[in-house]
Amino acid sequence: MAFLDLMLYDNHGRNINYLRIAVTDRCNLRCHYCMPEEGINYVDRKELLSFEEILRITEVFAQLGVNKVRITGGEPFLRKGILKFLRELTNINGIKSTHITTNGTLTDDKVNSIKEIGINSVNLSLDSLDPDRFYKITRRDSFDKVMTTLTELIDQDIATKINMVVMNRHNIEDILPMIELTKHNDISVRFLEEMPFNGTGSHSGMKTWNYAQILEYIKTYHPKLKKSNDHPNSTSMDYTIPGYDGSIGVIASYSRTFCGSCNRLRLTPTGLLKTCLYDSGVFNIKDLIRAGASNKDIEQALHEALSHRAKDGHEAERKRAHIAINESMATIGG
Ligand code: SAM
Ligand code: SF4
Repeated sequence: MAFLDLMLYDNHGRNINYLRIAVTDRCNLRCHYCMPEEGINYVDRKELLSFEEILRITEVFAQLGVNKVRITGGEPFLRKGILKFLRELTNINGIKSTHITTNGTLTDDKVNSIKEIGINSVNLSLDSLDPDRFYKITRRDSFDKVMTTLTELIDQDIATKINMVVMNRHNIEDILPMIELTKHNDISVRFLEEMPFNGTGSHSGMKTWNYAQILEYIKTYHPKLKKSNDHPNSTSMDYTIPGYDGSIGVIASYSRTFCGSCNRLRLTPTGLLKTCLYDSGVFNIKDLIRAGASNKDIEQALHEALSHRAKDGHEAERKRAHIAINESMATIGG
């Protein structure tokens, strides 16, 4: 347990206890809301944080009261040695829960290991239950692998949340079938607003369904939809349907309704610290480490970064006005 005066608080009084780490910018899918089909400039491998560096950084965060970590990417399971790394991560003193976000294409035979390592939950990205639509969205033919991962996660009783990005003209017809998955399975299906991080810098075609539209649509077919208590600091507005085993969430990722209770920081694959999904990065921890910084130096830099954190995602976006959003979510971690 960190001493109170060492814990991470921002200038708005929000305590930070959650770190999201993108371990790679590489991906084997090309979801069109996230990455362009071609012309992707992956960073040089030596620019990626090594697993040793990530473990050291996480230890520093844990000393400061961070107790929850999510591993994401890019696709985290593309990175060699990921299982060994996950095991070491879960053993860090102070880290109470470890979570993964994955596209599920490389995990159909790894769910056993995920369970055995003690990963607390898996967020599985799945935007359609129709193989053709899945192909159109991801530009890859991996639907069966993802469905096998989903079945395995359920069979092995691993807490599972499906993340579906809702996109007008692409997958509205998947909303109801997704909800049906929660009828006999105690999983959560979360509907996300699309954000402008598609790696192209052009978002003119983005016709976001906002959370209110998503909810209205669901309520039309499920008038008994019932609000449940949201978890503290959660970005998801949670609901249940009477008689269904699982739950439903709607995440206002573009409307940004949840910033007031934000408890998270993000570390990109190259070591950039982001105090908000929508900022352009605050400072680079890898550069500090490779210049010989001590853990105390890193702690000080973190406290400093949090002393001028944007109040919400809108302010963070305004502050980066001279750097237009053109990055891919794969380089941020989602
Ligand atoms: N590759 C893994 C996956 O797809 O789960 C992890 C990385 S991915 C960037 C993390 C999450 O970000 C996924 O759930 C994905 O759907 C979401 N995401 C990516 N681009 C997005 C966008 N433009 N708007 C909303 N969500 C997005
Ligand atoms: Fe890859 Fe995930 Fe982005 Fe899809 S959302 S392209 S799976 S990083």
